[in-house]
Amino acid sequence: MFSKLKSVLLHSGYRVILTSDFSRQKSGGLARATKGYILPDDLKIFINKHIDINDRVVTLIHELLHEIQPSWEEAKVDRNSKKIFKKLTISELGFLQFFIMSPPETRSMLSTHKAYLNA
Ligand SMILES: [Zn+2]
Repeated sequence: MFSKLKSVLLHSGYRVILTSDFSRQKSGGLARATKGYILPDDLKIFINKHIDINDRVVTLIHELLHEIQPSWEEAKVDRNSKKIFKKLTISELGFLQFFIMSPPETRSMLSTHKAYLNA
């Protein structure tokens, strides 16, 4: 399943956008919750930047599952996104994190890594 998620992320043209603005979408009907949503016509996936990084990865998997399995209902998408998250390898997790981290977060993670290497 991960390879499917990866190929959608890399080849479908979807853009992952971190946002704090969820109020605007609530009346639009497509918004599911406060964590994220997908707009297939616009090829955009919105993720709430105020939830923690692991939560954002689960949300990204969740939104991608809506694209891959359009017939699945919300509860099934939810269950499976958590299941997939738990089975991710470190490198798979790193790949997904890349899409949902803000540039300052990426910089801070890289400098932590550098400090570790120099210690
Ligand atoms: Zn959903």
